[in-house]
Order: sequence, then structure tokens, then C-alpha cells
Amino acid sequence: RPRVLSGIQPTAGSFHLGNYLGAVRQWVALQESHDAFYMVVDLHAITVPQDPAELRRNTRVAVAQLLAAGLDPERCTLFVQSHVPEHAQLAWVMNCVTGFGEASRMTQFKDKSAKQGTDRTTVGLFTYPVLMVADILLYQADQVPVGEDQRQHLELTRDLADRFNTRYGDTFTIPNPYIVKETAKIFDLQDPSIKMSKSASSPKGIIDLLDDPKATAKKIKSAVTDTDTVIRFDREAKPGVSNLLTILSTLTGEDVPSLERSYEGKMYGALKTDLAGVMVDFVTPFKTRTQEYLDDPETLDTILAKGAEKARAVAAETLAATYDRIGFLPAK
Ligand code: ATP
Ligand code: MG
Repeated sequence: RPRVLSGIQPTAGSFHLGNYLGAVRQWVALQESHDAFYMVVDLHAITVPQDPAELRRNTRVAVAQLLAAGLDPERCTLFVQSHVPEHAQLAWVMNCVTGFGEASRMTQFKDKSAKQGTDRTTVGLFTYPVLMVADILLYQADQVPVGEDQRQHLELTRDLADRFNTRYGDTFTIPNPYIVKETAKIFDLQDPSIKMSKSASSPKGIIDLLDDPKATAKKIKSAVTDTDTVIRFDREAKPGVSNLLTILSTLTGEDVPSLERSYEGKMYGALKTDLAGVMVDFVTPFKTRTQEYLDDPETLDTILAKGAEKARAVAAETLAATYDRIGFLPAK
């Protein structure tokens, strides 16, 4: 079985619809066909300030949501990144084969740091992509299911893996991005020119899966569309409507052309009402299942302990090989 690895940040508590459609939904499908490793990336979360109690709570909330979404600890390895110390250890080595200029070209860092200002931007945020490189290479992952925003970080991963292999001998599998075109970028409901994002979306622009379903329905009904009236998929000319069609199509399994036909002659209100209904039917049981997992922290922690043990077995082997190749003296 080919191996997949992916992660999600425990920031903000609730996952948003972009996280689910762009990433987590694929994770659930891939556990059937792949040797799957999925983690909650708390080391990545602290690249921006976090309240300790909230981070701890949000980490459990993230795990509970992954289970509620359909991850099965019998069929995948589910763990918390900081439980596997090899991530930080390999990240250091990879930092030392990354060019400063190369890291400086990462657009996500440029965007996020520009918003924060240099005095509030941490060095951790700068090396975030290199930690992600280590996350992936530790597991010798063949594929990495992510949203479109991670494509550049995947390119960096491939470059660094190849560089290390050339310099020190074959050590890492060169991974491929696994990006599902249709859902790779879910857009902000109020500004369909930007991606829906935990850190950049306004409350009205983002659909949080754990939000009150009534509030979610309201947000969909006030989503930005355009002054035209035709319900048609056109990413350039009609980004708002296209985003709603993408979401509806993915959640119902009905393809976009057939949706376009069924809304012929209808108004935007009809599309929004239907989508609001579909969303409410999706998030309501999701919320309940998440809460059930949260109500049983012992089971949750047991799942995570087993996951970390399985992950460490793989990670330790890769780290040992890396240390050996690079010339570190073995500890006797
Ligand atoms: P932040 O804005 O803090 O970076 P985020 O919203 O990007 O948060 P992450 O935890 O960084 O959330 O991302 C988890 C996964 O969700 C990644 O694979 C990412 O590519 C994917 N993802 C995030 N936003 C979207 C989106 N709008 N559409 C599709 N996929 C997305
Ligand atoms: Mg992100």
C-alpha cells in the first residue's frame, strides 16, 4: 500500500469547510486504500501566539473532529505531532540544507508575516515550511493530501528530499502532492477572491463546522454572489456562485453541470436555500459526534497514545538513517 501523510492545525477550535472539503474528506477516503498517517500539528500552531489552556483543549477538539469526520484509528495512524519528538529533530537537519533565500520565497510566509509585521513574526513561522518538510519525509510518504495553498510547500519538500538524497545518499522518498482539483480551494463567502482560512477570513466569510447550524445557514444565505442572476459555474466571472456550486456538488455528489441544469431559470435564493439545508444536515450530526468523542477524553487519549507509538516506530527509523548519513557519531 502506498503511504500518505497529512496534518491539520489545532488553531481556532473548529475546522472550517475548506479544511474539510480540501483535506479531511480526502483523508477519510485514503485510509481505505493507503497506509495513512494523520496528525494534529501542534508544533505548527505555536508559530503564532497560543493560549496554553486553549491550545490543549483545541488539540482534543481537532482529534475529536477527525474521528467524527470518519477517521478510524484501526485503519489509519492518528496522532499529535508533539508526541513524536523526531519531527522537531529532523526539522533541524532539514533547516540546515535549506537556503535562506529559498525559504524566503515561500508565499504563505510572505503573506502571513506582512499582515503581522516583522516584530510580531516569529522565526518559527519562517521555518514552518521546513518543519512540514520533516513531517512528510519522516514517514517516507508517497502522497500528501492537501489544499492548493500547500502546493509550494510540497515543491520545497521534493527539492529538499532530492538535495539530501544527492548529497548524502538515498534516504527519503520523494513525495507527490495529492490535490483534488474541484475542492482544492474553497473560497471565503464574503470575499470569493481569497481562500477560506482560519487566520484570514472574517466571521461571516468562514463556515466553522462546529458553529450553530442556524448561524451556518444564515451565512450561506448572505454569501456574496453577483448582480447577474444566472446560476452557472464560471470561476472568473462568477466566483461567488461557483464557490457555492462547488460546495453543493461535493456534499451531494451531484456534478456541477447537472446542478446548473436543475437551477435553470431559478434565482440565487433557491441555490442558497438548498445549500443551507444540505449544510445543516451535514454539520448537525458532525457536531454531535464530535461532542461524544470530547465527552470521553480517556478513549481519545488512548487512541492518541497508540497512534504516537505506531508513528514513532516509523519516524525513529528515518531519523536514525538521516543522522547516520549526515555523519553524527552514534550514541553508544
Ligand atoms: P491558517 O489560515 O492558520 O493557515 P488554514 O485555514 O489554512 O489555517 P490549516 O490547518 O493550515 O488551516 O490547513 C489544513 C488543511 O486544510 C491543509 O491541507 C490546507 O491545504 C487545507 N485548506 C485550508 N484552507 C483551505 C481552503 N480554503 N480550501 C481547501 N483546502 C484548504
Ligand atoms: Mg494553512
